[in-house]
Amino acid sequence: MDFKKYYIETYGCQMNEADSELIAGILEGFSCRSVNKPEEADVILVNTCTVRENAERRAISRLDQFKSLKKKNPDLILGLLGCVAQRDRGKIISEKPFVDLILGPDSYQHLPEIFNGCKYPLVNVKLSKTEVYEGITPFRRTKVNAWISIMRGCDKFCSYCIVPYTRGRERSRSIESIANEAKKAVGDGYKEVTLLGQNVNSYSYENYKFPDLLEAVSNVKEVQRIRFISPHPNDIDDRMLEVIRDHQNICKHIHLPLQAGSSRILNLMNRGYDQGKYLSVVKKIRTYLSDVAISTDIIVGFPGETEEDFLETLNVMDKVVFDSAFMFKYSPRPGTKASLMEDDVSEEEKADRLTRVIEKQREHTLIRNSALVGSVQEVLVEDLSKKDPNEKMGRTGTNKVVIIKKGDAEIGDLVKVKIEKAVGVSLFGEIV
Ligand code: SAM
Ligand code: SF4
Repeated sequence: MDFKKYYIETYGCQMNEADSELIAGILEGFSCRSVNKPEEADVILVNTCTVRENAERRAISRLDQFKSLKKKNPDLILGLLGCVAQRDRGKIISEKPFVDLILGPDSYQHLPEIFNGCKYPLVNVKLSKTEVYEGITPFRRTKVNAWISIMRGCDKFCSYCIVPYTRGRERSRSIESIANEAKKAVGDGYKEVTLLGQNVNSYSYENYKFPDLLEAVSNVKEVQRIRFISPHPNDIDDRMLEVIRDHQNICKHIHLPLQAGSSRILNLMNRGYDQGKYLSVVKKIRTYLSDVAISTDIIVGFPGETEEDFLETLNVMDKVVFDSAFMFKYSPRPGTKASLMEDDVSEEEKADRLTRVIEKQREHTLIRNSALVGSVQEVLVEDLSKKDPNEKMGRTGTNKVVIIKKGDAEIGDLVKVKIEKAVGVSLFGEIV
């Protein structure tokens, strides 16, 4: 049989990684096989992200690089997929006529049309109120963790964020299909599943809410670990925390995006909470889950952010002492409400604030990690250590990277590790 060879390059968050697995799943169903090098492919797909300008620019410049491969192989099909396709299709069609495919995040089921003599360019960027790719089996290439997308879209409309425009309205998959996908992943040898969505805790299917889904997945036999990203602070309720507390296989790690510490800026961001509410959610989480790790996302340099506002972000960081954080400079996204505000924090000021949050977070991560020195942690072995292939790397339930210096373990094993030191953002230890 003559297989078509495809190569997918993915930009952006885990949702996009999961989408690329769905795209691969669709192609595998049409006698396609994946290759690791673009030069070997008949179909090259760039799955893009538009959350920040950088990611968008990098993805678009890749198209120009792949264009040269078309000279060597005129039958090569080059596709732009995902959020950039959704947002910039007009520009791509006029400025990059060598792109054969432009498919938005709800249009991946149109991919097989390339095998049915479709007209090029094949463009579909219709947003759907219902598409959740039910029935498509993702083609996974990870070793230990299976991403499971539980919902798509976002209805929150934070003023800086492009996601509601590129991924459309919020919709959830059925609880049964998610539990079945978790069962299948475990059957295929995965030890951990991560439930994915822009706001996982606004999951809603018939009468089922996120705590029901957590319980259903937790009850899948032999799922050793369940993770979820990202929950929204406003949608964290007692029941969700009770379910996490009461199920041993649900990881005690909550990613709780803060974005900014100043209540004035949070209001301009349309986050729906102020500093006091955010801190009360942190307190509640820690009351239910004593050893929980809390991580966050922070944006610096939002329009109008003064030094005093920024100090409030540092202040909240000091109060919470996050275990880890993703930190970004504000990037105006055309089409969002914030893009109409003056981007008045200078690039130098943004860079300086970013350095200051990164430095503070480094200290806090070390404080949190150092508290584990001397303890024994359950670690899921994920891979060989990048620095020394004789050592393994894994993660605690609280999502901390552990380098295992001594002791036998296979990838996928859950082992007990005595933590001996904390350096940088990692822990180091030996199997006991
Ligand atoms: N839904 C999640 C939430 O509510 O936090 C996060 C999804 S968003 C794709 C991931 C992170 O990107 C956000 O938490 C935010 O910190 C960051 N982000 C989104 N838009 C941004 C922008 N315009 N500039 C800088 N960072 C941005
Ligand atoms: Fe973007 Fe806000 Fe939705 Fe997160 S909750 S995806 S930041 S609009």
